[in-house]
Amino acid sequence: MRIFISWVTGLSLSLCASLGQAESQWNGKSAAVVLTYDDSLNVHLDTVIPALDQRNLKGTFYITLASQGFSQRIDEWRSAAANGHELGNHTLFHPCNGQGAGRSWVSSEQDLSTWSVDRMVRHLEVANTALQAVDGKTKRTYAYPCGDMTAGGESYVDAIKPLFVGARGVVPGFPPAAQTDRYDIASHVVNGQSIEALKALVNTAIGEKGLLVFLFHGVGGEHSMNVDTETHNQLLDYLRQQQDQLWIAPMLDIAQSLP
Ligand SMILES: [Zn+2]
Repeated sequence: MRIFISWVTGLSLSLCASLGQAESQWNGKSAAVVLTYDDSLNVHLDTVIPALDQRNLKGTFYITLASQGFSQRIDEWRSAAANGHELGNHTLFHPCNGQGAGRSWVSSEQDLSTWSVDRMVRHLEVANTALQAVDGKTKRTYAYPCGDMTAGGESYVDAIKPLFVGARGVVPGFPPAAQTDRYDIASHVVNGQSIEALKALVNTAIGEKGLLVFLFHGVGGEHSMNVDTETHNQLLDYLRQQQDQLWIAPMLDIAQSLP
């Protein structure tokens, strides 16, 4: 009898352990979704945040501090942060690698190929300080401008790890938690897709039990990479419908949960 009891107890313990593991991967849900919006555009304050708030969803807004969409509307960003949205770091001036095809728009001042890793780190430290002055937070995530991870031809990824809980890259994917690179988190650029295509991404994430990060710029305009307001709202509604299967949270929460 004693042997039987210990066998049953052992079985239930190991069942609990494996169930617990599966459940804890994405806060008890099948998959995780992060809504990220880059470059501190006015439409993020005017259109996106009201749409998120209406549905009780929280997003991550990657702020470029030199942009007017930030500097002219600091109190509104402060309110958004107080309401649970993350203000992520997207640098002071949005420097990108000016070398290569399609990068003639990068000014010589903001050409990362001529910067040092140390210069980039110092800029990011100042940007973190400025964001802390707005939201009071000491932890946040980062988004690589243009997805570029080098300064002066050298990777700056390791150098920024002390500054951030995680960092979003631009390579698409649906990684499970154990295979998510916290300093190159996969993301899907949204630029003109149909609502069906965006829903398909959500369904794939659920099927693969992975992380889906949306990368938005314009919503209803203000940027050449854009999604119309109606499609954006339909996506938010679809996410709400699937919420029993999805952990929808700011990048900071997701990054902090990664192993
Ligand atoms: Zn950007």
